[in-house]
Amino acid sequence: MGTKDKTMEGLLAEIEILKEKAIRSEKLNESIVQTATDAIITIDRNGFILSWNPAAKRIFGYNSNEILGKSINEFFISSNQIKKEDLNRFLKTGLKRKVGQTFEFLVQRKGGEEFTTELSISKWKSGGSLYFTGVFRDITERKRKDFLLKKLDLALKNSKDIILMTDPEGVITYVNQQFTKTYGYESYEVVGKHTPRILKSTDNKERFELLWETLLSKKSFRMSHYQNKKRDGGLIDLESTIDPILNDEGGIIGFLGIQHDITKRIKYITELEEAIERAKESDRIKSEFLATMSHELRTPLNSIIGLSRLIDRDTSMDEVIEYNQIINNSGEHLLKLIEDIFDISLIESGKAKVFEKTIDLPIFLNEIHELMKIHQEKTEKKHVAFNLKIPLNCKKIAISTDKLKLKHILVNLLKNAFKFTEIGEVNYGFKICNTQAVTNIKFFVSDTGIGIDKDHQDLIFKGFSQVNGAYNRDYEGIGVGLTLAKKLVHLFDGDIWVDSKLGIGSTFFFTFPINIIESDIVIDSCDIGDRKNKY
Ligand code: ADP
Repeated sequence: MGTKDKTMEGLLAEIEILKEKAIRSEKLNESIVQTATDAIITIDRNGFILSWNPAAKRIFGYNSNEILGKSINEFFISSNQIKKEDLNRFLKTGLKRKVGQTFEFLVQRKGGEEFTTELSISKWKSGGSLYFTGVFRDITERKRKDFLLKKLDLALKNSKDIILMTDPEGVITYVNQQFTKTYGYESYEVVGKHTPRILKSTDNKERFELLWETLLSKKSFRMSHYQNKKRDGGLIDLESTIDPILNDEGGIIGFLGIQHDITKRIKYITELEEAIERAKESDRIKSEFLATMSHELRTPLNSIIGLSRLIDRDTSMDEVIEYNQIINNSGEHLLKLIEDIFDISLIESGKAKVFEKTIDLPIFLNEIHELMKIHQEKTEKKHVAFNLKIPLNCKKIAISTDKLKLKHILVNLLKNAFKFTEIGEVNYGFKICNTQAVTNIKFFVSDTGIGIDKDHQDLIFKGFSQVNGAYNRDYEGIGVGLTLAKKLVHLFDGDIWVDSKLGIGSTFFFTFPINIIESDIVIDSCDIGDRKNKY
């Protein structure tokens, strides 16, 4: 009996140990099942529910006494997942095929609300029967986040705003399509680069410091207008908002920048402001012009009316001759004013045409010389020396041009030269130059008069302006002479400008392309003055 009994004892002890182990393992399993956050459900091969853990109760909403022993079909499988009539087929074949896999499975809570779970199935046998245990993880929240992320990704990609993200040091970690489109950089060229360095912002130092201060205090920063550089070096006008991105603990893990390209808007605003400025300026010039005009028309008209009233039977012949001279001068002055204004409006309406004729330049300039000598006498400027300076040894030169218009320009410039010169000389002449296969003539009219300061040199060519305003004038005139000269030179496809020093004198130049019909001048290839780039 001894060994046999001992063996029996040993066996009983081993059985006890095994029982103990089995109980421990069952308890362990039970505790896992009870504390699991996933629903763990066991069914038999016909789909009847045999176990239902607390997580299953929380997720699906049924107590175990409501559900144990019931078919899964009645309760939690969504009919959108498996139709009632297909369930048996699924239990017999489909379920087995899914064993060992993890897959998405549509179920429903008590009350009918459908939701997606991630399901893993295992099968086991006991007492000759087959059982399936399913672990259901509620992935509603994960799905919602995935969907949200997809939507956000789409929004970022298709946004018309430029979106970029950086790490806490300002190193770019993400740029959207609009960024690459606007800046011309591919994403791989900027990701990893420091934002201010690569985008070479023209923003000022103070605002940059304020930006960092604001962001580091975890506040959003808005910039209404600044410029960044594109890949090709061009500038973009931007308005933007930068926000710190915070983690759950409130620490800064990066920055989100949203920029809006306002280059077009800024351009329109600038153009609009310039247009308003031009309109104001033109309004001011027009009012000044009207004031000047009324003065300029009134003076000769007053002389004409006043002096003609004075003449009666008692007026002596000498007085009649004297008055008549003044009346005639005033009449001519009026006529000149009206003709100039008429000519300007004709050119502005686009109706003025260039009528070319061959002219002998020396003869033409001599005519002008004679005309100006008479003018000198009339305006008591005979003491001012007057010289025509033509190229050395030039006897013959005939060009094809509009004689009347050329005369008009020269006479206007010469009259101004005398008008503004009290002592010294007035010189004028021309030069012929060849530039880039085009022959140009360049005239000059110089004087030793009052000169024009730098600020006014461009202004005097802009309609109805005088260096002194309408109410503050030492010289008569309405400021149309140079405007007309400029418009006429432009009709010739040329350019006009002035070199002048206040108190020293002025030289007006004008140049335009010509056809030389006949000439004894040796034409050099030479530059034609300050505005070389014009030709
Ligand atoms: P205006 O009829 O007033 O002379 P212009 O258009 O001929 O009109 O000239 C405009 C202004 O340019 C003049 O009022 C004067 O202030 C200035 N100006 C023109 N020519 C000269 C010059 N040779 N010397 C100094 N100032 C000049």
